[in-house]
Amino acid sequence: MQTGKINVQTENIFPIIKKFLYSDHEIFLRELISNAVDATQKLRALASMGTVTEDLGDLTIEVILDKDKGTLTVKDKGIGMTAAEVEKYINQIAFSGAEEFVKKYKGKSEAESAQLIGHFGLGFYSSFMVSSKVEILTKTYKKGPGSKAVKWECDGSPEYTLTEKEKSTRGTEIVLHIADDSKEFLEESRILELLKKYCKFLPVPIRFGNEKTWEKVEGEKDEKGNDKYNEIEKPRIINNVNPAWKRKPVELTEEDYKDFYRELYPATFEEPLFNIHLNVDYPFNLTGILYFPKVKRNFEIQKEKIQLYSNQVFVTDSVEGIVPDFLTLMHGVLDSPDIPLNVSRSYLQSDSNVKKISNHIMKKVSDKLEDIFKNNREEFEKKWDDVRIFIEYGIISEPKFFERAEKFCLLKNTEGKYFTFEEYKNHISAAQTDKDKKLVYLYTSDAVEQHSFIESAKARGYDVLVMDGPIDNHFVNTLEQKFENTSFVRVDADVVDKLINKEDAMPSKLSDEEKEKLKPVFEEVAGKEKFHVVFESLSETDMPVQITRPEFMRRMKDMSMLGGASYMGSLPDSFNLVVNTNHPLIGRMNTEQQDETRTNLARQMVDLALLAQNLLKGEELTGFIRRSLNIMH
Ligand code: ADP
Repeated sequence: MQTGKINVQTENIFPIIKKFLYSDHEIFLRELISNAVDATQKLRALASMGTVTEDLGDLTIEVILDKDKGTLTVKDKGIGMTAAEVEKYINQIAFSGAEEFVKKYKGKSEAESAQLIGHFGLGFYSSFMVSSKVEILTKTYKKGPGSKAVKWECDGSPEYTLTEKEKSTRGTEIVLHIADDSKEFLEESRILELLKKYCKFLPVPIRFGNEKTWEKVEGEKDEKGNDKYNEIEKPRIINNVNPAWKRKPVELTEEDYKDFYRELYPATFEEPLFNIHLNVDYPFNLTGILYFPKVKRNFEIQKEKIQLYSNQVFVTDSVEGIVPDFLTLMHGVLDSPDIPLNVSRSYLQSDSNVKKISNHIMKKVSDKLEDIFKNNREEFEKKWDDVRIFIEYGIISEPKFFERAEKFCLLKNTEGKYFTFEEYKNHISAAQTDKDKKLVYLYTSDAVEQHSFIESAKARGYDVLVMDGPIDNHFVNTLEQKFENTSFVRVDADVVDKLINKEDAMPSKLSDEEKEKLKPVFEEVAGKEKFHVVFESLSETDMPVQITRPEFMRRMKDMSMLGGASYMGSLPDSFNLVVNTNHPLIGRMNTEQQDETRTNLARQMVDLALLAQNLLKGEELTGFIRRSLNIMH
């Protein structure tokens, strides 16, 4: 037997591993299983090169829980280690790696270190986070002298023992004696949860105990003549060793992609809209499948997220910084050993490989969208309402994405027709160019509430876009900046004739003095603080009174609300009360001698205008109904 000190120069790092890196203890299992997978893959590689000629046999890795003994064992049939290799890899290399890791993060805050250890770094020694003692029992694939099986043992002090030990099979067994404060890792359900989280797609089968299933008994029927099933126990295999993203796209059908989606997110019933298979090996290695999901309108917190893997080992499901922001709402997996994981987020964002990966993902997503748009526009339009949020967000936030998306981004009008930017421009340029040669895009944010305005605009031969998505305020701003010589105006921003500023104003039937006389009547009825009274000479058939919301002021308010309403305080609503000087009822008001009748007329017309925009509520609405009934007597 050999005993020794792992490293004489250092202070004892075990208590530090244990206490300081306390928050992400569970990752020890991922680390141990990753090592077992590596050892197995190495053996496979040696066999394929002809260095190992024996039959490899079943290579399944086993995770074994023994509650009575208080141990958790990870057992592989990989290359194993000789005594000299244990000395080298475990006592020296791995230890100094762990030591360095601990040193590096000792000065960091708890939150930082928790984030860092959650990713890769600590390796084998992370097992001391949960163990009072760790044993390694290992037998190398090598034959000849120095290849006897050995047992290494360490109880969390820097002293270890290394002894020869009988072991009949090739490979390594890591036995953890679970510490008293980590008893949760002796619970089957907890271990199963961890295996499902980290190991679901590892390339070597992982077995954890048995599971019960039903097996059909051939040739036998029960009394009712139905097939007979027997309950049987079979090894419980945790993982799918050949997940869809590792396979060639040509081998996969649409159904395979959907099946894989269900495999990734078993709790989801929704089907994804479409998928993008990523497969790059130069200048960085990246595989994965991304799905466009149906995004809920209200942005409810998403349970399903993109999962990041490194060589099929699950790392995290927070991919901010790796995937462009606007694509973080997508679903699926990314697998890249080239993403540095034991670094902070801010470092990640400045890493050149990560930038390239992020750009590549953006390019692939836009290629796919363009592809569907070109080859199957009908399909694309059908899915548009569900994908537009991604595209609009991308256009707002990534100038590079705009350059690609401007070819396939669609605009929908109130008739439910879809246009590309180019098509729409041509569609409206004849009717909606104003006297300054500016192209005016009319839009509605709520086709129900702004119905009367939409109808008036359509009656004038104008087209109205539907911009009712959650980020359309921003989207409209962005488009206005990107398009040249263009303005966007909401249909209720002004009376229809003035939405698009053309020269031909009608003559007014009221003189300026007459207007001045009527103005205070409306101001009193509507409230001077809330409404700005203006006179317009419109057609006799237009409404006598309309309420409009000037575009600029409304946008300022929308923006301040989105920004938490902090920097300008909460802006008041700004409404115009537009009086049509040519309407017969306004004419009648003008000639009416009785003040009371005049006021009543004004009140009724103002209320009707409010009603047309769903702005008449509560006491005012009740008053309006009562007055209307009185008129009918
Ligand atoms: P890393 O895996 O990052 O190299 P570890 O501390 O996890 O660091 O492991 C150190 C070394 O110990 C490995 O590189 C490998 O050589 C050896 N090792 C660990 N586990 C096994 C195993 N199950 N089978 C064979 N060798 C192993």
